[in-house]
Amino acid sequence: MAGLTPLEDALALILEDARPVEDSENLPLVDALGRTLAEDISAAVPVPNDDNSAMDGYALRAAESGHDLKVTQRIPAGSAGSEVLPGTAARIFTGAPVPPGANAVVMQENCSLDGDTLRLTQAVRPGENIRRRGQDLEQGSVVLQAGRRLQPEDLGVLASVGAATVAVRRRLVVAILSTGDELVEPGAASSLAPGQIFNSNRYTLQGLLSALGFEVRDFGLVPDDPDTTREILQAAAAASDCVISTGGVSVGEEDHVKSQVEALGHLKLWKLKVKPGKPLAYGRIGDTGFFGLPGNPAAVYVTFSMIVRPWLLRCQGAAAAAALPIPAQAEFEHRRAGSRLEFLRAQLRADGDGLHVRLHDNQSSGVLSSVSWANALVVVPPGLTVARGDTVEVILLDQLNR
Ligand code: AMP
Ligand code: MG
Repeated sequence: MAGLTPLEDALALILEDARPVEDSENLPLVDALGRTLAEDISAAVPVPNDDNSAMDGYALRAAESGHDLKVTQRIPAGSAGSEVLPGTAARIFTGAPVPPGANAVVMQENCSLDGDTLRLTQAVRPGENIRRRGQDLEQGSVVLQAGRRLQPEDLGVLASVGAATVAVRRRLVVAILSTGDELVEPGAASSLAPGQIFNSNRYTLQGLLSALGFEVRDFGLVPDDPDTTREILQAAAAASDCVISTGGVSVGEEDHVKSQVEALGHLKLWKLKVKPGKPLAYGRIGDTGFFGLPGNPAAVYVTFSMIVRPWLLRCQGAAAAAALPIPAQAEFEHRRAGSRLEFLRAQLRADGDGLHVRLHDNQSSGVLSSVSWANALVVVPPGLTVARGDTVEVILLDQLNR
């Protein structure tokens, strides 16, 4: 385990033992947002269910559109008409089924009505303004695949084929704990004694995990003491699918997380070739996955997004959801080539000639406000420098938070 592991290798290593949870449950659609489908969903009915009108207008035989036609019926949405006989037309409204005999709908704006006599002001083509049965979804087709994390629009799609409940995987349970004698919970003290800091990682992690739809069990503050660390790690592992700790995973004598994970289970990975985020550990305690994230808050965000998130999604049974890298023009210089893959907190903005990206002034891994400020991370591979105007790769934070 000597040396720093490149991100790609680390991902391959951790993902190879990420096993999807097996249990599933049936949920009503209203409760299924963010949950992962346990099976493919097929369309029980075609959408739409019949050929229907895309307009308010008149249904007729297109070949007769040069003649005066007699309007003999009225078909509002929700009712079915009767056959349109030669020489006739049907008043029809958006969404109403196109009656037999008719093969086009003319917009009401394109005709004039004199009593019940309809005259078209322009010709109409066969099929015009008709939404075909099954044009959205064909009956029996797979609408959404197993592994899909349900988005708001997916719930609508499921409803459109009449699905009232869906089978989803049970939610992954993730335990979090915050190590460090210096930590104080917000609310526990109105001011800080020398050396103390408020615990921010807990809230960042809680938010990231909740936004991704996982169930969070919070094991609170863990002092820098080996026995307590071990006891809490053990309890957290017994209660969850994955334990995530922050801090205490570096090389100081006050860092006890690694040794205590090794006492309870084993470590498979330590130290990433990533900046920020070098001191990251991955291992297992029994059947439970373990991630020891760095203490520094900006490093927590980056390592969670790049390493923990893909592992959790895989365990949740969710299809791969890698963030799309976006090319943008650098409004900054990055003169010193690093030995690690770097993620720089940045703001991406669009202007006249495309996407531009600028960096936060302080890229220290301790500066959490830089993450709030940022809407993106610039990815700089090891060994590379960036000159102003270069094209760089950017990942949107929005894509990492969902
Ligand atoms: P460590 O890896 O434990 O040495 O922590 C590295 C840095 O991160 C130190 O400056 C810690 O005070 C800070 N840190 C650790 N845990 C937290 C936390 N939960 N919230 C905010 N900062 C933290
Ligand atoms: Mg510490």
